Amino acid sequence: KHKKISQVWWQVPVIPATQEAEAGESLEPGRWRLQRAKIAPFETPSRKQQQKRYLKPRPPPGPRDVPSPGLPVSVPILVQRDAVPGARKLRAVLEKLRLSHQDISKAAKVVNGVVGHLLHRLKCESGFGGVERLHTGSYYEHVKISAPNEFDVMFKLEVPRIQLEEYSDTGAYYLVKFKRNPKENPLSQFLEDEILSASKMLSKFRKIIKEEINNIKDTDVIMKRKRRGSPAVTLLINKEISVDITLALELKTSWPASTKEGLAIKNWLSAKVRQQLRLKPFYLVPKHAKEGNGFQEETWRLSFSHIEKEILSNHGKSKTCCENKEMKCCRKDCLKLMKYLLEQLKEKFKDKKHLDKFSSYHVKTAFFHLCTENPQDSQWDPKDLGLCFDNCVTYFLECLRTEQLKNYFIPGFNLFSSNLIDKTSKEFLSKQIEYERNNEFPVFGEF
Ligand SMILES: [Zn+2]
Repeated sequence: KHKKISQVWWQVPVIPATQEAEAGESLEPGRWRLQRAKIAPFETPSRKQQQKRYLKPRPPPGPRDVPSPGLPVSVPILVQRDAVPGARKLRAVLEKLRLSHQDISKAAKVVNGVVGHLLHRLKCESGFGGVERLHTGSYYEHVKISAPNEFDVMFKLEVPRIQLEEYSDTGAYYLVKFKRNPKENPLSQFLEDEILSASKMLSKFRKIIKEEINNIKDTDVIMKRKRRGSPAVTLLINKEISVDITLALELKTSWPASTKEGLAIKNWLSAKVRQQLRLKPFYLVPKHAKEGNGFQEETWRLSFSHIEKEILSNHGKSKTCCENKEMKCCRKDCLKLMKYLLEQLKEKFKDKKHLDKFSSYHVKTAFFHLCTENPQDSQWDPKDLGLCFDNCVTYFLECLRTEQLKNYFIPGFNLFSSNLIDKTSKEFLSKQIEYERNNEFPVFGEF
């Protein structure tokens, strides 16, 4: 009996992306009409929140602009809001993004073949014997957009009996040591002054992959040049598919203290879910920490991409939200639109370097915070897509303005600190996003 209870809904195995095919994503008008009367899509923010969020006056809304969030909603406004042209445009954008899914599945097959081959080889190498594939990345979260030819793959390697030493109060970066250091440990070849050297391990990882791609005869695979500071090995398959392979250490111990106040999902997905997620392993990826003007090359950074995937797949407060091929909320759509907005702006300004440091991870992190602030499924009613998306945009702008975007798992780690991204870049991005919002997102129609 106990066993049955412990098999909670979010532990149900995830259906492979190709089969699920983002079912139920197209919006059928009319389906929602029968739903019960709604609460305001985003609860009226408390005064403190209001002050926090709307310190800066918003640009004067145009005639076709959506009403500001937090208005008390009555039926006429609901009807009016549903007629917002912006929302219709957003749905058309989402439809466009959805159509590329077939290309994605086709490319995914090719990627899986290559990745399987490499994994097989790595398993025969000393130090990498226990390596396994970890299914994460936007493809598996079903929020992959507009770039059918880019994939992220993680190879995980369980490392028992290690000790973490936080790197200079970052909460996110660590040096890895072994509790005991027996000679027969295959990882001892990567030790450097008792520290498991991220750079040594990554360079061997890279070397093996580089060797092995020459043995792949049925597919054209080349390795791209090493990018400075990137934890990934990037491959180019058939001259068009780009795959980032990241090596991750898997730790089955309790999560580091810096994560204690993170993952604020108690009111959204429940305290029980939070507790169960925190019992899962966590990962470390070889990633340089900033050190003055240079980098500390031996650090590892915490990664929770598997948890991100989990909470995106099972994102509803109610257990039935979007889980039965039916779209009951617009959370994922909002995330996709936010990702698309950033991607398009990055493309538009690729010749300038202002947007280089912004990534979809920033958008995703802001999105998770918004989910925490707006935990009810009814706050993300698909009918309110325009409004919800506008709220996401507002929130992201506020993060840029205040230079505050806490890592969702590590609250002490500010992804928007001036140390990581300069203020000019943030102001540039803000200006572009505000322009887009005030003009009904012309960038969605470009490229
Ligand atoms: Zn949902």
